[in-house]
This record gives sequence, structure tokens and C-alpha cells, in this order.
Amino acid sequence: MKTILKTTITVKDICEGFVYNELEGKGLYGLSGKLTIQPEYQRNYIYASDGGKREIAVIGSLLKDYPIGLIYFNKVSENNLEVLDGQQRITSVGRFVTDKFAIKDENGMEQYFGGMAKDKKAKILETKLLIYECEGTESQIKEWFKTINIAGVPLSDQELLNAVYSGPFVTLGKEEFSNSQNSNIQKWSVYISGSANRQDFMERALDWVSNGNIGDYMSRHRKDKNITELKKYFNSVIDWVSGIFTDIESEMRGLEWGRLYEEYHKKAYESAKVSKEVRKLYGDPYIKNRKGIFEYILGGSSDTKLLEVRVFDEAIKRSTYESQIDKAKKKEESNCPLCAVGHDANKSKIWSFAEMDADHVAAWSKGGTTSAKNCQMLCKTHNRAKGNR
Ligand SMILES: [Zn+2]
Repeated sequence: MKTILKTTITVKDICEGFVYNELEGKGLYGLSGKLTIQPEYQRNYIYASDGGKREIAVIGSLLKDYPIGLIYFNKVSENNLEVLDGQQRITSVGRFVTDKFAIKDENGMEQYFGGMAKDKKAKILETKLLIYECEGTESQIKEWFKTINIAGVPLSDQELLNAVYSGPFVTLGKEEFSNSQNSNIQKWSVYISGSANRQDFMERALDWVSNGNIGDYMSRHRKDKNITELKKYFNSVIDWVSGIFTDIESEMRGLEWGRLYEEYHKKAYESAKVSKEVRKLYGDPYIKNRKGIFEYILGGSSDTKLLEVRVFDEAIKRSTYESQIDKAKKKEESNCPLCAVGHDANKSKIWSFAEMDADHVAAWSKGGTTSAKNCQMLCKTHNRAKGNR
């Protein structure tokens, strides 16, 4: 790969003919059309999020003569360059000089580029950028793009995969799953955490259809001119879960719906009954893990481990232990009630507190509470054997 360092290109040159696409949220062209700012393997513009702190910081750096870091261009042909690294910074500068956002001046007043003093404008426009122009094969460039990632926000795993497997498939996938203008995003957000911009929905869709083998799936479908399978599978999962759980709860967000779909979509559920059970479990003060409620119901309401039912606190355990020991010593039998009724050497064994665990006399799943009167201490062996707690 050939690299040349350019030190004479100014902000003014870069912003010549700058086009910003409001709808897709990305910078498109600069250098009088010669520079493609966001090639398809680049991620979406994210510096305007978080209240624009990052794009404002880029402009602040220019005004204070702070370096904004190295920028990398890929020389595609004699008259065509692509931004490899620096897209976020260039878009910030381009958006500022086209009055898309304001910064605060010394007096804390909002200031747009158009309204700035001449000398300040000139300072920004005349800033020279440090640019490496690289020339190489597609695979060299992409391999290298994977490893640079120096300044700014690190690429997420999916952004990296989008870069590595760029092509028609990724382009179509991003149009559907990475476009924050897509009206479905709100609905999907009930089940999926993260943001469209950072590729979290794209990642989930690929994760589900590929059963966790995203890279492999992307590599096989890289040249596809449609995303039919991807979309269909994704929608099946969303329709399935929204059909079963009709009440929306915040704990649904980010669950492994793809795995749950695979495991349970052939079973029949009655949504009215499911809804009643969800509400009952949400009202149960002994359930610590509400996220587990959904899988618990899907699996037939038997695996109470998923719910992390509240355990007895130290004080209850201690007082129960003490009262059992008093009784046991009087009767000269084991302080584990199950050992006491047995026929082996442990029949009269006195266990230490550390050798015992608390047990629900009436199981939680059968309505037993986590209160002192439903607590008994068992030796660890008997407690484990009793299982269903
Ligand atoms: Zn025992």
C-alpha cells in the first residue's frame, strides 16, 4: 500500500461543495465533489448525538489551534478520494461552515459560522489538515481500516463488520435497520436495546437469523441484492413476541428474543392467560429478576431459577437456626429435621450454621412466602436434594 502525507489541504478545500444529507444523517461530498465523505462501508454520523458535544469540540479545537488528528483518504482513482478515517470530524466541520449547528462564544452566546467575525471565519477555513492519502487494493485498505480506528469513538463490532463485508447486502441492511427515520424503530425498541445509528438493530437482526454467526452470515450473503430472508426472520421474531406478550414492560428490552423464538415458537400460548400471569408475577414482591419472567412463562412456568426468588435474610436464618438447635438438643437428635427422621449416622448430628442452608417449607411456586414462619434450616445435602425452592 502506498501512502503520501498531505499537509496543504485546508478546511476551506475540504468544505468546498460539502453536501450534508439531512435524511440519512451523513456528510456526502467535499473537495468540490472529488471526495466521498461517507463510503458505504463507513458508519453513520454520530458526532451530532449527545447534544452535539463532539462536533462542538471539533470546532473548538480549530479555533484554539489544537490538532484534530490524522485523517486518512483512500485514493480510488486520479479524481476520486474516499474518507477512510476522519469522516466524523470532516462532517462536523462541513456541518458547521454550512450553519447546521452553533457553538458558544466567549460570552456564552450561540454563534453560527455565518455570523462569526471575519478573522475567526478565516482562522477556521485556513486551518491545514494532516491527511494521509493511501492507495491499495480493496482488501489491503479494508484490513487496514480495521486496525486504524485511532481517533474518536471506537467502532462497534457491527460497524467493523459492516466495513469488512461492505457491499449491496450491507447497504440494503443499513437502509432497513440503521436508519433512525424508519418508523419501526420505536416498535423494535421495546425488544431491542441500543440505537439504530450505532448498528444495534442491524446486529440483532443478523444475530437472530444467523443463530449468532454474524460474520459468517454476512460473508455468505455479501453480494446478495436483497435482504428478504433477514427481514422475514426478524419480523417473525418481533411478531411472535408481540403476539404473546401484549403488555409492554421495560424489562423486555434486550432479552435474547432470537433464542427464545427458536426454543418456543412452536408452542401455543394464549395471550390473555399470559398477560394475567405476567401481571401476577410483576406484583410478586419475592421475585428479584423480572427479566426472567418472560422465559419463565414461555417454558411453562416451572423453572423458578429464572426468577431469582428472594432468599431469606441473615437474621431470619440465624433465629431459625437457634430455635432448631434448642429443640434438637432437647430431643437429642439432629438439628436438620430431615437428618433427624433418617436412619443413618447423621440422625443425631448437630450441624454448624455454615453447614446449613435456608429452605422454604412451602415452596415459593406453591404460594410459600419468604418469611420467618416459612423458613427451615436444612443441612446442605438435604437442601440440595429438596430442589424446588
Ligand atoms: Zn440433613
